[in-house]
Amino acid sequence: MTSPMLEYAFFEGRIVPFAEANISVGTHVVQYGTGAFAGIRGYLDADGETINIFRLPDHAARLLNSAKLLRAELPFSRESLAETIVSLVERNAPTGDAYIRPFVYKSAVQLTPRLRGVGDELAIYMLSLGDYLDTSRGLKAIVSTWVRIPDNAIPGRGKFSGSYVNASFAKDEAEEKGADEAILLNTAGKVAEGSACNLFLVRDGVLVTTPITSDILEGITRRSFLRLASDDGIPTETREIDRSELYIADEVFFCGTGVQVASVASIDGRPIGDGTVGPVTARLRDLFFDTVRGRSDRYADWITPVRRRVSAARS
Ligand code: PMP
Repeated sequence: MTSPMLEYAFFEGRIVPFAEANISVGTHVVQYGTGAFAGIRGYLDADGETINIFRLPDHAARLLNSAKLLRAELPFSRESLAETIVSLVERNAPTGDAYIRPFVYKSAVQLTPRLRGVGDELAIYMLSLGDYLDTSRGLKAIVSTWVRIPDNAIPGRGKFSGSYVNASFAKDEAEEKGADEAILLNTAGKVAEGSACNLFLVRDGVLVTTPITSDILEGITRRSFLRLASDDGIPTETREIDRSELYIADEVFFCGTGVQVASVASIDGRPIGDGTVGPVTARLRDLFFDTVRGRSDRYADWITPVRRRVSAARS
């Protein structure tokens, strides 16, 4: 299998070959998970030449908020972070869909778990990425026995490296039980989100998702779907979701940068709706892909287009 990694990374202030973007095994972030990251998609436009970066300023803003929670001191504004990401996309000049992973981390080789005085760095790398979950069929999900980490332990709204141990516990459990994805409840016993994605359900034509105070990541795809739905006349509710509502919902789907839109066919072995992709999910999925592929310019302000430069592609 060829490596999905693209050739260049941003590391310690400059663009270097990905193979040179390395840190020591003793680094604070490696030992304690004291990092935060973003996951951003660049979609190949229908013109075959342009990479459409989805909601780049929003991802930059969220990463800087995660960095703030980590007390990271970085010489980047939202604008300069976005510009740095664009420069790396230009340099890598991907020929297909790409995933961009900016990573803020505590960079000192230091033994004490703390946030202050242990150095802060930014690295960015990219890979080619198609579908992360199989979106052509409905997924099997389970309600995990692992609980989503509460805000006053490790805040879910910070996209922290260490939190993904929790996500990994839940994902493994799902896969070992023959499912594709886990649904985590929070410490109050209410629905939080998937292992690395947000959750929506549809009941009686109303699109429902959990509030940002339910120990979830404040998903940018989630926010986009709420907007797409309300602009399309689909009623939306943002409120706590009970576990039992999952089992009687007409439609359930996950969304996020990685999963994009993934319809759920069953939860804990109980079929959702008739087990196929429901009409609301299908409508939102179509609106979403028309936007990211540049087939509709209604949400053009969500897209940062980066044209492939012939010279960059050849060098
Ligand atoms: N929740 C978690 C825990 C995630 O890792 C992700 C993926 N970033 C999401 C939700 C979805 O967020 P977004 O739409 O911003 O990618």
